[in-house]
Amino acid sequence: MFIDKSSKELYEEYKDIAQKAADLYYASAVLGWDQEVFMPPKGFPYRGRQLATLASLAHEMMTSESYGNVLEELSGRNDLSENEAANIRLSLEDFEKKKKLSSSFVNKLTQQVSSSYDAWIKSRKENSYKVYEPELTKMIELKLQQADMYGYEGNSYDALLDEYEKGATVAMLDPVFEQVKNELPSLLEQISNAEQVDDAFMNLFYAKDKQWDFSIDVLKKIGYDFDAGRQDISEHPFTTSFAPEDVRVTTRVSEHDFASLLWSSIHEGGHALYEQGLPSEQYGLPLGEAASLAVHESQSRLWENNVGRGIHFWQHFYPVLKGYFSEQLNDVTLDGFYKGMNKVQPSLIRTESDELTYHFHVLIRYEIEKALLNKELQPKDLASAWNSQYEKYLNITPPDDKQGVLQDVHWAHGSFGYFPTYSLGSFYAAQYYEQAKKELSGLESQLSAGEYGKLLTWLRGKIHVHGRKYRSNELCKSITGEGLSFSAFMKYAQEKYSFIYNLD
Ligand SMILES: [Zn+2]
Repeated sequence: MFIDKSSKELYEEYKDIAQKAADLYYASAVLGWDQEVFMPPKGFPYRGRQLATLASLAHEMMTSESYGNVLEELSGRNDLSENEAANIRLSLEDFEKKKKLSSSFVNKLTQQVSSSYDAWIKSRKENSYKVYEPELTKMIELKLQQADMYGYEGNSYDALLDEYEKGATVAMLDPVFEQVKNELPSLLEQISNAEQVDDAFMNLFYAKDKQWDFSIDVLKKIGYDFDAGRQDISEHPFTTSFAPEDVRVTTRVSEHDFASLLWSSIHEGGHALYEQGLPSEQYGLPLGEAASLAVHESQSRLWENNVGRGIHFWQHFYPVLKGYFSEQLNDVTLDGFYKGMNKVQPSLIRTESDELTYHFHVLIRYEIEKALLNKELQPKDLASAWNSQYEKYLNITPPDDKQGVLQDVHWAHGSFGYFPTYSLGSFYAAQYYEQAKKELSGLESQLSAGEYGKLLTWLRGKIHVHGRKYRSNELCKSITGEGLSFSAFMKYAQEKYSFIYNLD
C-alpha cells in the first residue's frame, strides 16, 4: 500500500505520528511536574484523569495499525540515512514490545499499581508489611505474566530488566554484583577500623534561602541553562524534560541537614545537563531520548559523586560556600569539610546512604527481586528475608518494616528490575570519569578553578549527542574500550577513601 511513496514521504509520516505522541507525552510531563510542585491538594482526582486520558491517547497512536505499517515499510527501505534507519529500528522495537501486552492486561496492571500503592501507603502508616503483602503478591503475579508475554531466554527477570535497561540480563549483572560482594567489604572494614571523620558541621543551622542561592550558583557554574529550565522545591527531588530547551529540576531544603539540598541539586543537575544536551532536531524520536536509565544515572552520579564529592570541586566552591555560611564553617578546614561530607557509615535507608554502602542497598534489592520472580522467595517471607540480608551485608537490623522493606515505592509501582540501574549508573560514571581524565589533560585543575565547560562538552560529544542510538554497554565500550565493569569504581573508591580515612 506504500509502494508509490518515497522513503522521504514515509519518513515524514512516521515523524508526524511519533512527534505528536511525544507532544502528548510531554504535555503529561508538564502536568506531572505541576502535580509535584504547585498543584493544590483538591486538584488531585482531576489531574489523575487528565493524565490517564493523555496516556491512553498516546498509547493508541503508538500502537495503531497505520503507525505499525509505516514502520514495517520503512524498515525494509535501504535509502534512509544512518540516523533515520536507527530511529526506525528503535521505534519498531518499541512498537512490537508494546503490542505484546493486550490492552486488558495493561488496564489490569494500571489498576494493580494503584491498589498496591494504596496498600503501601497504608502499610507505612501502620508500620506493618502484612498490610502490603496481599497486594504485592498480586503485583508479582502480574509481573510474571508480563515477563511471559514479553518472552525471555534465560531468566524471567531478564524480561523485566529489559524495560529499564535494554539488553541487560542476569548473566551480565551477576558477575558485576559478585565483584561488589567480593571487593567492597574489605574496604568498608578498613574504614570502620580507621579513625572516624567528623561530619557534625553538616547538621548545624543553615538558612534555607542561602542554601537555595548556593545551589543556583552551583547549577549555573556546571552549565545548567536557566533559559532552558528552572529549579523548584518538591518532596522528592526529580528532573523532568519537555524538550531539550525546557528541562526542570527540583530539590529539597532542610535547615539542619545541609547534605539534603546539596546532593539533590547536583544530582538532578547532572540529569538535567544530559536532557539539555540531547539533540533538539530529534525531538520526539528515539535519537532524541536518553540511552537508558543507567546511562541517565551515570550522568547524575558523575556530577554528584565524581565531581561534586571530590576535593577539586570544593577547592573552588568551598570559599564560595564559606561566603554564605562563615559562622557555621569558620572552624572547618577544606580538608575537614571534604572528609566530613564523604563520611561512610552503614545505614538503614538507601536514599540517605553514602557512596560506598549504597551498593549493598541495591545488591540486596537485586537479589530479592530475582528470588521473588524465580519463586525462590515467597512474598510472605519478604520482610524477614529483607532483614536478614541487611544483617548479612551491612551488619544492621531494621527495627521495623518502615525502615526496612517498606522504604521504597518501586515495587508498589510494579518497577521490578529498576534498582540495579542505580548501581550501574555509578559504575558507568566511574568508567566515564576515568576516561575523561585520560582524554582531557588538566581536567582536575580545571575543576579546581571552577571550569566545568570542557568536561560538559566531552560528555555532550561522547554521550548526549547520540540519544538512544547505542545501548548502554555498547556506548561504554565505544568510549572507554570496555563494557560495564566494577573495576573503575573500585579503583576510584580505593584512592578516594584511602586519603579520607588515612588507610595504607
Ligand atoms: Zn538519579
